[in-house]
Amino acid sequence: MRKVSIFGATGSIGQNTIDLIARDPEAYDVVALSGGRNIARLAADARRLRADVAVTADEARLEELRAALAGTGIEAAAGAAAIDEAAARPADWVMSAIVGAAGLKPGLRALEQGATLALANKESLVTAGALVMDTAARHGARILPVDSEHSAVFQALVGEDMDAVERIVITASGGAFRDWSLEQMAGATPEQAATHPNWDMGQRITIDSASMFNKALEVIETKEFFGCPHEMIEVLVHPESLVHALVGFNDGALMAHVGPPDMRHAIGYALHWPARRALPVERLDLAQIGQLTFRAPDPARYPALRLAHEVLAAGGLAGAVFNAAKERALDGFLERRIGFLQMAEVVEEVLTRLTGSQCLKNAEITLDTVQETDHLARKTAEAAMADINR
Ligand code: NDP
Ligand code: MG
Repeated sequence: MRKVSIFGATGSIGQNTIDLIARDPEAYDVVALSGGRNIARLAADARRLRADVAVTADEARLEELRAALAGTGIEAAAGAAAIDEAAARPADWVMSAIVGAAGLKPGLRALEQGATLALANKESLVTAGALVMDTAARHGARILPVDSEHSAVFQALVGEDMDAVERIVITASGGAFRDWSLEQMAGATPEQAATHPNWDMGQRITIDSASMFNKALEVIETKEFFGCPHEMIEVLVHPESLVHALVGFNDGALMAHVGPPDMRHAIGYALHWPARRALPVERLDLAQIGQLTFRAPDPARYPALRLAHEVLAAGGLAGAVFNAAKERALDGFLERRIGFLQMAEVVEEVLTRLTGSQCLKNAEITLDTVQETDHLARKTAEAAMADINR
């Protein structure tokens, strides 16, 4: 039996992971599940999968979790430190699907014990790419991408030589506002931004899709994971969300990965790698689909893409600044303190204010420097949002 743990089990990726694992209960021994506020979901899945331990990030909900697990023998724990401790428990395969910068430390703990890390938490690579990749190398642990574009690139590269790669193209649906004007986008509400035309995902990543901050994070994730120069990475708007990525080789060939917009494909690929196993996802009927369309992203509507390349050119801890500023700006938008387009203004302002500061120049990327940078960038984002509203 394979020992598996799922961090962010109650979220969209976590639930899709559980869907696959629960189909084959004899194959998996579930060590740890983690969640946040959704105690009912966490406890029900811990019972169903007979996990050793269930951890909520929210210490105030520990009693509720204990009560929900009473009599099962499943350990209940709470808080960030308890999540880290659960991630350090031996497992063969660990899903990293907490949303945001909080996913970094548990992922590192899993790598340190040599587990294969299925990485959905793109923020880990954006904030601390070098640290994550070095930790894996030092401990002989493997990282498998779960983000659909990165899984697609990874699959297109099987048996290929990275030296023959000329470009990596990741696609973007364009999110909720792909056909909206700038004026309409300026007045967009969180509810409007949180609906996605093709994918069913968590609220934050859905809004990040509408602003293309998600794609900006993915450009950085591509550079950190595949180690290619950032100039090689392109973004293409593809409203159908069926081609997830393309890899261009030096002989002119483009290898495209085509599949249904169902995260269970990328999760299942990472779960069964290097084998391919049958997965319960739709089979595409291309004759019925008829056509696939592509267009270049509009830089005026999606400044996040330009910022991603600036972040990669700056290097060092700029990714940690970018992610933290983006997370805070997204909170500000959700709290209706700033408008939709102002999220990018806030992030750019934070990058400008912190350029030249030690955190952008300091090349050493450790958990401490990343966390300090994260705090500083959040504080700076708060100040930038206050200035916008003045
Ligand atoms: P969701 O918001 O659906 O789920 C997030 C999970 O993290 C939940 O289990 C939530 O708990 C938990 N959580 C929230 N805050 C914290 C915290 N501070 N500490 C610990 N746990 C916390 O997110 P998604 O599943 O959509 O995304 C997860 C990650 O995967 C993100 O990094 C995202 O970018 C990435 N990803 C997601 C895709 C998707 O299709 N959804 C596609 C590609 C990448 P609770 O809900 O119980 O409060
Ligand atoms: Mg993606």
